[in-house]
Amino acid sequence: MKRREFVGGLAAAAGLAACASEKDGNGAGASNSTEVFEWSCVTSWPPRFPGLGMGVENLAERIERASAGRLKIKVYGGGELVPAFEVFDAVSRGAVEMGHDASYYHKGKVDAAQFFTAIPFGMNKTELEAWLYYGGGLALWRELYEPFNLMPFPCGNTGVQMGGWFNKEIRTIDDLRGLKMRIPGLGGEVLRRAGGTPVTLPGSEIFTSLQTGAIDATEWVGPYNDVSFGLHKAARNYYYPGWQEPGPGLECIINREAWATLPPDLQAIVEITCQSITTDMAAEYTNGNANALQQLQEDPNVTIRTFPDTVLRHLKAIAKEVVADMMANDPAAKKIGDAYYEYLAKVEVNSRISEDAYLSTRTW
Ligand code: CA
Repeated sequence: MKRREFVGGLAAAAGLAACASEKDGNGAGASNSTEVFEWSCVTSWPPRFPGLGMGVENLAERIERASAGRLKIKVYGGGELVPAFEVFDAVSRGAVEMGHDASYYHKGKVDAAQFFTAIPFGMNKTELEAWLYYGGGLALWRELYEPFNLMPFPCGNTGVQMGGWFNKEIRTIDDLRGLKMRIPGLGGEVLRRAGGTPVTLPGSEIFTSLQTGAIDATEWVGPYNDVSFGLHKAARNYYYPGWQEPGPGLECIINREAWATLPPDLQAIVEITCQSITTDMAAEYTNGNANALQQLQEDPNVTIRTFPDTVLRHLKAIAKEVVADMMANDPAAKKIGDAYYEYLAKVEVNSRISEDAYLSTRTW
């Protein structure tokens, strides 16, 4: 019922909002509006899932609190209102006002969007946020989504992920040949070119697929999320680092007409709260991963391993080809990719002499 009201009342509400902001005339300052907005937010995550799913629950709860109840957002888990991978379309066509997912799920639809989640061997969380907020990345993202009637906001990041769970040891690149693995986005294409078979599955289907042998391996997120799915009970070898997702950023997407109905102070609350979720989620993951990793280290059925250097070097060479091909085939990917790599070349020098250097010094 609310969705019908939303679609029907959109034009009228947009007109009202336009008048209100003209009258205010003071940007994102206090608003006299007492109008209450009730939005729906669809997601790709299992309901209230640690990290990913709690991020969007926290977003809704904080926006309602900060707006004194003037913007209420009801969150739906993947599949509750629309399928987990149809968030982009549902928000784009205005069936719901808001969505929370990862932009690399739009591979095949908006290939260039992958630069805003994760690129194999690309930017980590800190670097990605620097590019988005201060290096021009977010403007490119908004330009890319405008034809889809969407406003994207960075909203959450898992930090560097794990390489995944494998039912056999990976000693050479040939061990990836014939491997059927759940791995989305460009990482999946890298695996395919290494001779494996990539599969895209929503989180909720991973455990059963791995346990029944429908897949031989999976990446998901990191210890915190992987243990909550019980993946350590379905495969023995747990590999790092997560070359395929070095710091994937999540997105909050808002239908542009719905966005235009909000008075400036509510728009500011949404924008600021999205940014706060990224900080909060990083803390939740660092804490959750540390606890779950301790549990895994004590588990006699789990072996934590690092990929051999030769395997990582080979994957990195393939990853460069995969991204170069994507950029050659899509003008938007070329434009965004050029900006991304130009920024990465600059920022990685700083990362190496700061975080990298410090962390390797701290390890005794
Ligand atoms: Ca992942």
